[in-house]
Amino acid sequence: MAAENTAETDAAGNGATYGFQTEARQLLKLMIHSLYSNRDIFLRELISNASDAIDKLRFRAIEQPELIGDDSDFAITIDFDADAGTLTIRDNGIGMTRQEVIDNLGTIARSGTAEFLTRLSGDQKKDAALIGQFGVGFYSAFMVADEVLVRTRGAGSDEGTLWKSRGEDSFSVEDAADLPRGTEVTLHLGADARDFADGFRLRSIVRRYSDHIAVPVRMAREAEADAESTEVEYEVVNSAKALWTRARTDISDDEYKSFYKHVSHDFEDPLTWSHNKVEGKLEYTSLLYVPGRAPFDLWNREAPRGLKLYVQRVFIMDQAEQFLPLYLRFIKGVVDCADLPLNVSRELLQEDERVNSIRSALSKRALSMLQTLSDKHPDDYVTFWDEFGEALKEGAGEDFGNREAIARLLRFCSSRVKGEEGRRQRVSLDDYLDRMVEGQEQIYYLVSDSFEAASNSPHLEIFEDRGIEVLLLHDRIDEWLMGNLSDYKDKGFQDITRADLTLPGEATAETEDRDDDAEDAPLTRRIAAVLADRVEKVRPSKRLKSSPACLVLGEYSLGPQMRRIMEASGQTLPESKPQFEYNAEHPLLKRLEAEADEDRFADLVLVLFDQASLAGGAPLPDAAAYVDRMNRLLVDLLEC
Ligand code: ADP
Ligand code: MG
Repeated sequence: MAAENTAETDAAGNGATYGFQTEARQLLKLMIHSLYSNRDIFLRELISNASDAIDKLRFRAIEQPELIGDDSDFAITIDFDADAGTLTIRDNGIGMTRQEVIDNLGTIARSGTAEFLTRLSGDQKKDAALIGQFGVGFYSAFMVADEVLVRTRGAGSDEGTLWKSRGEDSFSVEDAADLPRGTEVTLHLGADARDFADGFRLRSIVRRYSDHIAVPVRMAREAEADAESTEVEYEVVNSAKALWTRARTDISDDEYKSFYKHVSHDFEDPLTWSHNKVEGKLEYTSLLYVPGRAPFDLWNREAPRGLKLYVQRVFIMDQAEQFLPLYLRFIKGVVDCADLPLNVSRELLQEDERVNSIRSALSKRALSMLQTLSDKHPDDYVTFWDEFGEALKEGAGEDFGNREAIARLLRFCSSRVKGEEGRRQRVSLDDYLDRMVEGQEQIYYLVSDSFEAASNSPHLEIFEDRGIEVLLLHDRIDEWLMGNLSDYKDKGFQDITRADLTLPGEATAETEDRDDDAEDAPLTRRIAAVLADRVEKVRPSKRLKSSPACLVLGEYSLGPQMRRIMEASGQTLPESKPQFEYNAEHPLLKRLEAEADEDRFADLVLVLFDQASLAGGAPLPDAAAYVDRMNRLLVDLLEC
């Protein structure tokens, strides 16, 4: 991606000024004017970039060892000058070419930027949290610096570049001679940030945020200033060992958390993690994290996802998506395999049997980490569920082998609690099973477009009457989800809006006798004659208590959600008619039975039919006809 506008070349011919990309400019403004809450993190970002640059060079050098030359002592060096108010972070990593400098330090390449910027509220605290989620990277240097200089020379190139900016609208780029390989970032600290040029402070920030970086971070020994020798002696100030290679018992929670921030670009803590070494036929180490918040692009199936892949501690690639299934795309972390070749490519990963077996082991690992979270920290699990539950639901269709483990992690609303509080329920299938009534063999559920529509459905009447809980589903993919779940712990699932309803204590779905009787009833026949081309069947209902009528779906017909999804994808579906159930005990039906005027009878039946559609959450196909009929009935009523 190139900077948006063309460069203005200076007189000497090698320097040029560029404008920042609009989004980068907005982000810079925020950095400089609004975000003061945790300025320490600029150092972590710069160290993280330096470490990435060294990882990239190591990786490139697998095929081109000459890129490393005689500068093979990889390190990140921090120097400061308290009098001048400057701070320098240097690495001997991959470096950048002039064009890369312009592209990387003039734009924000990460996806979701535009969306991120539209979500800023102007409230500093909230925006800071959002930025944390987004990750700020290089531009965070401007939280502390008035001016930033970047000197860099790409590995394998002779040409150095100097990038300069005051963080306003533009930056300049010019050639620079005699640079070592790698990148040096110099910050001219602002008047209010000069206290960052302090050895003690810098050491403590490095230890807090960058201890786990696998590359040594070096600083001059403190006594050096007074020493006679002019040769500065450096010492390593972090532990410089890849975190996942250390024993679990030696790693503190804080270290795990800061490593998470390094791999995920998230500024907030993860909800939980799982660190495992596997030995034997396949040797690998994994460190998986569950973030506390969904990224903006969770629903973009093309968005980058996956783990950081290392082979024997050598960084190979970011976003190795082959190690986890799509529905677990929210999991972040690292996998380090001993057995893969160093030159492994994405294509090779796709076909590798070893990768497949690691993927299935990591899927199980991730699900059991979630189960532990739900058992031990139910509140955190609710946070997880609200952010990522919908993605997890996809697993019911994608990951057949783990269906039971996934089902156990699902959460639902249920008919047990009404109103706003009801919406906040997170009922698990195990909770549901514990509360089943005597003789109950099925898990009852209802899918609707909204929680309100679900919780007010007339289909619930008999269940409420008998104290039986019903799961109320209202997510876009719930009908699809339930289509993928056949049973849980030996109990089947039953959609209560379907014709074949079996209640506890009844042997089978309504027996044929009962149906035959019902169709024989004179009222049934009269109603059926009116609704002939609108419904598949008419019968008295056993599920209604207070409503006069409802519509039910045939056992095999598509529900409205699936129908909409399939139609949206361009499929033409055969028309499907509902069945009409009436409540023979309801006063309206008693009155209807006595109605001798056939026109009036038809009007009443059609009104009942339309109202049953409305109560089920469906729109009326012909609202004008409904209003007409209602008005005729009202006039009759008033004239009586
Ligand atoms: P991110 O690290 O998430 O990509 P940053 O804003 O931190 O985003 O950095 C932007 C880009 O600038 C990096 O992706 C990298 O290409 C380049 N970059 C930054 N610092 C360095 C460095 N020290 N060496 C080489 N490239 C760098
Ligand atoms: Mg970065």
